[in-house]
Amino acid sequence: MEHKFDAVIIGAGGAGLYAALEVSTKARTAVVSKLYPIRSHTGAAQGGIGAALGSVEEDKPEWHAFDTVKGGDYLTDQNAAVILAEEAVRAVYDLENKGLPFNRTPTGRIDQRKFGGHTRNFGESAVRRACYAADRTGHMILQTLYQQCIKNNVAFYNEFQVMDVIIQGNTCTGIVAYDLSEGEIHTFQAKCVLFATGGCGRMYRITSNAHANTGDGPAILARAGIPLEDMEFFQFHPTGIRGLGILITEGVRGEGGILRNRKGERFMEKYAPKLLDLAPRDMIARAIRTEIIDGRGIQGNRSIDDYIFLDATHLGKELLESKLPDIVDFTRTYLNIDPVESPIPVHPTAHYAMGGIPTDTQSRVVIDDKGTAVEGLFAAGECACVSVHGANRLGTNSLVDLIVFGRRAGQEMARFIAQSAFTPLKKGSADKTKQRIHTLRDRKKGQDPGMIRKEMQKIMTEKMGIFRSKSQMKKAEKALNDLRHLYQNVYTGDKNIKFNSNLLEIFELGNLLDLAYITTSCALNRTESRGAHSRDDYPERNDEQWLQHTLARLMGDKVEISYKHVDISIWEPKPRKY
Ligand SMILES: Cc1cc2nc3c(=O)[nH]c(=O)nc-3n(C[C@H](O)[C@H](O)[C@H](O)COP(=O)(O)OP(=O)(O)OC[C@H]3O[C@@H](n4cnc5c(N)ncnc54)[C@H](O)[C@@H]3O)c2cc1C
Repeated sequence: MEHKFDAVIIGAGGAGLYAALEVSTKARTAVVSKLYPIRSHTGAAQGGIGAALGSVEEDKPEWHAFDTVKGGDYLTDQNAAVILAEEAVRAVYDLENKGLPFNRTPTGRIDQRKFGGHTRNFGESAVRRACYAADRTGHMILQTLYQQCIKNNVAFYNEFQVMDVIIQGNTCTGIVAYDLSEGEIHTFQAKCVLFATGGCGRMYRITSNAHANTGDGPAILARAGIPLEDMEFFQFHPTGIRGLGILITEGVRGEGGILRNRKGERFMEKYAPKLLDLAPRDMIARAIRTEIIDGRGIQGNRSIDDYIFLDATHLGKELLESKLPDIVDFTRTYLNIDPVESPIPVHPTAHYAMGGIPTDTQSRVVIDDKGTAVEGLFAAGECACVSVHGANRLGTNSLVDLIVFGRRAGQEMARFIAQSAFTPLKKGSADKTKQRIHTLRDRKKGQDPGMIRKEMQKIMTEKMGIFRSKSQMKKAEKALNDLRHLYQNVYTGDKNIKFNSNLLEIFELGNLLDLAYITTSCALNRTESRGAHSRDDYPERNDEQWLQHTLARLMGDKVEISYKHVDISIWEPKPRKY
């Protein structure tokens, strides 16, 4: 089946819906999503969206931009960070005007709380910058945006999984998607396409990410020859529920929660004397792992599954149940522990990809250091790399990224549509996709996808975690490539046409494998430690050689690496102390 729209947006999370809202006022717009929109992972975002509103104390966008740059260990593009921080303020009021029920101060202003790495006056002390709706901020954003998109007559294709992009010459002309309910292939012709497909945390065994976070967008584009940026930087959130990885928001520490080791010590005093439990995530995740490796985890067995305590008992029942109701509920439900009375067992959980599809500040996909754009191709949200998060994202900055750069994407797409014509699709644009599906369905025997997935997640967790070493990464790179070869002969016993979710999970596994492989190759290549990328053989940051973005192109079994400059036009890189 064939469809034709001015704009096609892949993904109905915060980034996709905000872009859809903007572009749909001017052009015929479709959103294609493998999930029902309000099940998108943005709905899981808990703690808040950062903006220097200054509702409860003095704050400035300039301070927010600086914190973002420093938090990103100076790999953040500073021009992009300034846009993020300045436009965040308007974005939050915009969401409020669209109906988002933020928590309020007693005088009726939007309430704000502290979050890791956000400070007043260039690092003086923690500042209250995160605007929040209890611990359901992302859920409220999704509901608000989805309602507005319905009002704007955006056409939604739900439970349609995009399998391929169509790029002719240097122009993106559409996409190929699989309709889960009917098992049919659909081609969408478009003047422009936005990828807003979210994260890829499912590369890891313990993650805060939902099952659908399989990096489809970056993987599809990598196979189409588009390089990916800074994939070596993957964030571990310090506080996932022990053994499960489900997130306990930084908002708990923002409200005063304290991390403690088996001796009951507030160990962050050693690692970040000023910001303590509100230091950036990369530092806290390393501190927790160090405590565990040194035998001060709660079990004391130094294993990867050991944990520490997040103590919120002193905050009181009323505060916990009113400002962090989901966290209280998760802890009671999944651990049978009441956080009002007992500390929460937590350890770092794979959380967020700083890298992704390279874009400029108008969300256009660019493929080299000169900023060469692919006509009609855009990306925004977690799958993109603009790069505002550099080597380590600050909490609350992803939701801002979605809204600010989702909006910019929508505006730029509308401009692009007004001055471009449709490019006729070349014949057989969907043939390759159809062939892949037939080959998989027709295969009589082959490799078990479950085994491949389990092995990939084990390799990534054990060898590509918070601390990395050359020998472990080399082993990971080889093992992942071997799995990619096994995957060529993957098998499913489910031959159904309708609702064949096995087939789509196999497709997602292929995406994760490619991204895990690229991530590992990029990490091996970067011989320094910066932000979330910490190597024991190169423990220092090396600005002389490495103050540059990685661009990685997947060429079969090889990952070809080139570089892109970092914008450091405002603040000179300095050692990072908190
Ligand atoms: C538990 C948790 C809590 C968080 N809390 C915060 C917070 O408090 N503050 C903050 O700033 N950040 C937070 N984050 C991070 C933030 O929520 C995410 O980075 C962000 O929501 C991602 O939004 P997105 O629009 O890029 O993608 P998503 O919301 O993940 O949406 C992706 C969309 O793409 C679609 N899609 C994917 N692949 C395909 C395909 N092949 N075909 C069709 N559709 C496809 C999906 O259906 C979905 O609609 C949190 C993350 C987690 C996991």
